[in-house]
Amino acid sequence: MEIIDGNKIAAAIIAELKATVATFPGRRPCIALIRVGDDPASVSYVKKKQANAAEIGIESRLILPPVTITPAELFALVDQLNADAGVDGILVQSPLPKGIDEVAVFRRIAAHKDVDGFHTMNLGKLAQEDETGFVACTPAGIMELLRRSGVTLAGKHVVVLGRSLIVGKPAALLAVQRKAWANATVTLCHSQTANLPALTRQADILIAAIGKAEFVTADMVKPGAVVIDVGVNRVPDATKKSGYRLTGDVHFPTVSPLCAKITPVPGGVGPMTVAMLMQNTVKAYRQNLGIA
Ligand code: NAP
Repeated sequence: MEIIDGNKIAAAIIAELKATVATFPGRRPCIALIRVGDDPASVSYVKKKQANAAEIGIESRLILPPVTITPAELFALVDQLNADAGVDGILVQSPLPKGIDEVAVFRRIAAHKDVDGFHTMNLGKLAQEDETGFVACTPAGIMELLRRSGVTLAGKHVVVLGRSLIVGKPAALLAVQRKAWANATVTLCHSQTANLPALTRQADILIAAIGKAEFVTADMVKPGAVVIDVGVNRVPDATKKSGYRLTGDVHFPTVSPLCAKITPVPGGVGPMTVAMLMQNTVKAYRQNLGIA
């Protein structure tokens, strides 16, 4: 069994991006990060994004509107950044305060600056296998982890647990693409799937993205499978100073001995998500400035 080290792979991508950005003449790539409110997880995610950007040489502009911001004011802010030629990518950190329609805000971001890949246009381009679009960072990170770990998808059975628009559905769309690195046969499961363990046991590659702590148990996994654990769940743990520990959607202690390869939580998919955001920002910069 091999543990796929997401931190190491993400660090290699960051180093490659840094070398690429160093070759750009003129201004640096720029990402605008909008964070509304002080949700502790959001504060920590945005800090991580800023730190990665700084490491690569990407300018980040942090915008912190008050939680009282109205949807109209948030739209106006996004419009202003859409029109700003010095901004290549725009990210609105989720979750937004209750009463603001997140999907509407994501759609307001100009598609060519939508480095999170949530815009309808970019999801459409993913379905059409149009590489000018932006792919959502977590599923893009999963594919990159697999590729860089030497896992081939062609002809394999990929079973995805979870059909969200930010993870499960785009992961399935990527794995099934008519590309040499993809070409998998995909089963996409969700909460209404009947006899789930019978399907997961058929997976050569199992991608778990449901948000249920340690849901995938040893009896659900085929020996020799590759398991990608996307879940990030907090479970109470009195031995920790914080009072909780982070765990994935997979019961790591019993599943990992069965696997050919598996990602840990933390340190698996998480760091790849931020690396892919940086990659998308560099792509947006190139496209915005017409650099090949
Ligand atoms: P989500 O929007 O809540 O979607 C969860 C999906 O799982 C839904 O499609 C749901 O089915 C399905 N599901 C729920 N219970 C199920 C069950 N018992 N059996 C089968 N399917 C079930 O979640 P998400 O945003 O995709 O996130 C999933 C997990 O990934 C979370 O733990 C999240 O924190 C984590 N995540 C991690 C990263 C990272 O960078 N590491 C990034 C994003 C998300 P229905 O559609 O039928 O409701």
